[in-house]
Amino acid sequence: MATFDVEYDLVAVGGGGSGKMAAYIAAKEGGLKTALLEKAPETGGSSVFAEGQTAFESSEQKARKVPPTPGMHYPTRAEGFKRYIDYSHKRANPEVVRMQVYETAETIDIMKSLGIVYTDVTIYAYEQPTELNTFHRPEGLGAHMQEVLLQATKDAGVDIFTSTPAKELIVEDGKVVGVVAEDSDGNTIRIGAKAVVLAGGGFGGNLEMVREHSRFGKNADHLIYMGPPENTGDTINMALAIGADTWEMLPLMIIPVAKGKSLVAHINGGGSQPVLWVNNTGQRYYDEHVALSFADAGNVIASQPDGRSYSIMDQDTVQHLIDDGSDIGLGDFIPYHVQLTGLQAELDEAIAEGEMAWKSDSIEDLASQIGLDPAVVKATVDKYNEFCHAGDDPLFFKDAKYLRPVKKAPFYAIEMRAAILVSVGALRVNGSLQVIDKEAKPIPGLYAVGMDAGGLFGDTYNLDVPGTANGFSHAGGRVAARHAIKTIKG
Ligand SMILES: Cc1cc2nc3c(=O)[nH]c(=O)nc-3n(C[C@H](O)[C@H](O)[C@H](O)COP(=O)(O)OP(=O)(O)OC[C@H]3O[C@@H](n4cnc5c(N)ncnc54)[C@H](O)[C@@H]3O)c2cc1C
Repeated sequence: MATFDVEYDLVAVGGGGSGKMAAYIAAKEGGLKTALLEKAPETGGSSVFAEGQTAFESSEQKARKVPPTPGMHYPTRAEGFKRYIDYSHKRANPEVVRMQVYETAETIDIMKSLGIVYTDVTIYAYEQPTELNTFHRPEGLGAHMQEVLLQATKDAGVDIFTSTPAKELIVEDGKVVGVVAEDSDGNTIRIGAKAVVLAGGGFGGNLEMVREHSRFGKNADHLIYMGPPENTGDTINMALAIGADTWEMLPLMIIPVAKGKSLVAHINGGGSQPVLWVNNTGQRYYDEHVALSFADAGNVIASQPDGRSYSIMDQDTVQHLIDDGSDIGLGDFIPYHVQLTGLQAELDEAIAEGEMAWKSDSIEDLASQIGLDPAVVKATVDKYNEFCHAGDDPLFFKDAKYLRPVKKAPFYAIEMRAAILVSVGALRVNGSLQVIDKEAKPIPGLYAVGMDAGGLFGDTYNLDVPGTANGFSHAGGRVAARHAIKTIKG
């Protein structure tokens, strides 16, 4: 018979959006004695960085009737369901997708009842013909939303333990009955629980796991991680250690980033534009307009030799991005058509540092500075300029309006990499977010939510449905908690 230092009805492991929502509902609706364990000194996780969340047929969509984007409509649940399934090439788990399309709307109402105001419900990338209008953007974005949810969790009576990482699950007779954690003084504590909800935010911060599970092989070493350092897959590994199954572990939420710079930096906005992109071989490798979906662009860049790409542009294009604005947005980080007023200064500073941006009056010299073959880069630029002149790209069929020649010196190059925001492939769960074992049976007492729960994706994060991860985290936390309440209370 297992013994414990302290006992709860429900323990949520991870204090991001999914764990907090699970703990809040367990305590508030179920009156369960609830604990929230958080590895970091503060709760929040990557959820504080999110700008918005998905929902289908929400009160906000209904009140607005039609989205601001001409000719578009707010999608039905059925449209959302089909889009997830189709986008994944039928690799998504229909039970999980069904949960997502039915349950995300209630999150909007709960957050509104807690005081959140939604400023708009829109798309993420303008001119993306396949995108659905699901992106609910709260005032103060994810950071404010997480503050509000934290207060609600405290008010509901949840005991919150920060700097307290969970280490392993306690299992008795095939049922999860608790969790071993390390408290803020480094002591091991055994916490009994009738239900444990794993909400550790995935494994994006664990390079070993990224190498093992993502499709990028040795190129994984060149990925830049931009999520919280604590999201190292502990909770996923705890479940795997007791026989849990996985569902499509490979997809990552991945985005182009100017090496070493923030996502909102104008040099990042410049490097992400559909200008000429070459890889380490000095050759063009893709229709650069792929950047419209940052997840696709992240995949493409991460797959290049050494995971590197160089965005090459001339002074006219730099000036165009400053005066006329970005040709495409990069999610919410670089809005569509925003004037990149900081671009020249950021370029000049980075060029002076000589690490990731270069400038020259000759293409060959620019290539030499980067370490690329000057003759190959010159031939690539000449060919690209011919396409621009003709308004036709017979190699990659890029839309003519993005064909900007590289003609007027000085010429610039920005090194782009792919950054992981979070991993999105994870444990196999059912529609109630119960963790499923290798015999396809739920493991009693164990749930996984947020980025610890797999099933919405095939090989790539789905930006056709913007806000998917954050919507999933909050909805799943709630669904898991309600299932646990029912199971515990009968
Ligand atoms: C820059 C950025 C922007 C993003 N923007 C969006 C967006 O606009 N829309 C969107 O849908 N998604 C976005 N995301 C993804 C977002 O992270 C997810 O949407 C979602 O909010 C993740 O929620 P979560 O609860 O699963 O994980 P998190 O919020 O990351 O929470 C996980 C928590 O678990 C804790 N933890 C880890 N291991 C342990 C352990 N062993 N014991 C105890 N605690 C542990 C971590 O410290 C962390 O606090 C963004 C991510 C990043 C990095």
